[in-house]
Amino acid sequence: MARYVIEGARVFDGDRLIGVRTVEIDGPRIVAIDGPVSPGAESVDGRGATLLPGLIDAHTHADVEALGHALRFGVTTEFDLFSFPQKMAETRRAAAVRHDIADVRSASVGMTAPGGHPTQLRGNQDDPELPTVGRPRDAARFVDERIAEGADYIKVLIESGKTLGKDVPVVDGRIVKAAVIAAHERGRMVIAHALTIDATWEALAAGVDGFAHLFVDGPHTAGMIEALVDSRVFMIPTLTTLASITNQGFGAEVAGDPRVVGRLPEAWMDNIRGDFNTFPSGDFGAAIASVRAMHAAGVPILAGTDASHLGAPGMAHGASLHGELQLLVRAGMTPTEALRAATSIPATTFGLDDRGRIAPGLRADLVLVDGDPTSRIADTLSIRGVWRSGTPAAR
Ligand SMILES: [Zn+2]
Repeated sequence: MARYVIEGARVFDGDRLIGVRTVEIDGPRIVAIDGPVSPGAESVDGRGATLLPGLIDAHTHADVEALGHALRFGVTTEFDLFSFPQKMAETRRAAAVRHDIADVRSASVGMTAPGGHPTQLRGNQDDPELPTVGRPRDAARFVDERIAEGADYIKVLIESGKTLGKDVPVVDGRIVKAAVIAAHERGRMVIAHALTIDATWEALAAGVDGFAHLFVDGPHTAGMIEALVDSRVFMIPTLTTLASITNQGFGAEVAGDPRVVGRLPEAWMDNIRGDFNTFPSGDFGAAIASVRAMHAAGVPILAGTDASHLGAPGMAHGASLHGELQLLVRAGMTPTEALRAATSIPATTFGLDDRGRIAPGLRADLVLVDGDPTSRIADTLSIRGVWRSGTPAAR
């Protein structure tokens, strides 16, 4: 494999800007920062640019095509939060050997009620039947089955349909609690889908580790923020999705960016321009305020989009993560804090100590962008180059 030396770029190391540095890649790894340049290394001119760790989207539903789109936009790892194992096995095999798609981790299928979310959204997708759990004592079996399928973490969906346009049966809280206990005994985190305040309280009562969405059916309270802090949970707000649900047209704004136009197939451009619009009475401003309050109180915030398949409107893999970063800044995070939310924080939270930072020995997952996104977050879209474990991605 090739050696590259990126010279003259400011470096954001996953935590902070560390100044103009020389970063050398050898094969799949970063081997040196400001070391003596090896003879034969190909020089990359980074002047005027900022080098970032490869971005991590902490909430997607991934397949091979999606991971290709992600990588184009500098997203080198996706955390899938619900996929069918047959498809995910194929996706993982591809991600293990191909350098033109992002890497992936997955929950496999999530726990839901019979006939529960997301089956109502997947009318004509011809899905295999979902495994469900009828009583708490069967929750451990559900967790074991997911782990056997390769699940890196467990997903539970506490969803009544309130904000999604159609009422659906909700999984019993006692079953969720039993699943959390079983997952923790097996060393797996549990991430809850909760779009309402009630579901969020229920997930907290069950002892989950983090949230795949922020609630969108009302403003936060001081008591809620305190409970989130006390429970030491992390939050993946998916403001991108909440904007789509509440019909904010934010995807269209991302799609209209000249740095996005033409970089995705037309069907995906149409997809990102759309809105779910299932909860137009929802107050997106309240969601922004909730993220602001959580962040200020110290709840770890992870950048995630919920980019899924065609037909889940308002998002696209890769491009939407840049939009999410802009929304996190709108919610009061500094650009540097937003960048952490898409690099070191998700890596640490999900136990991936080989990525999310720029340091010798780590994976050479890197994005070189014009400008300085630590002062102007929108510069993340000005992509000059992407490396995926040391291999340059085609632009
Ligand atoms: Zn999702």
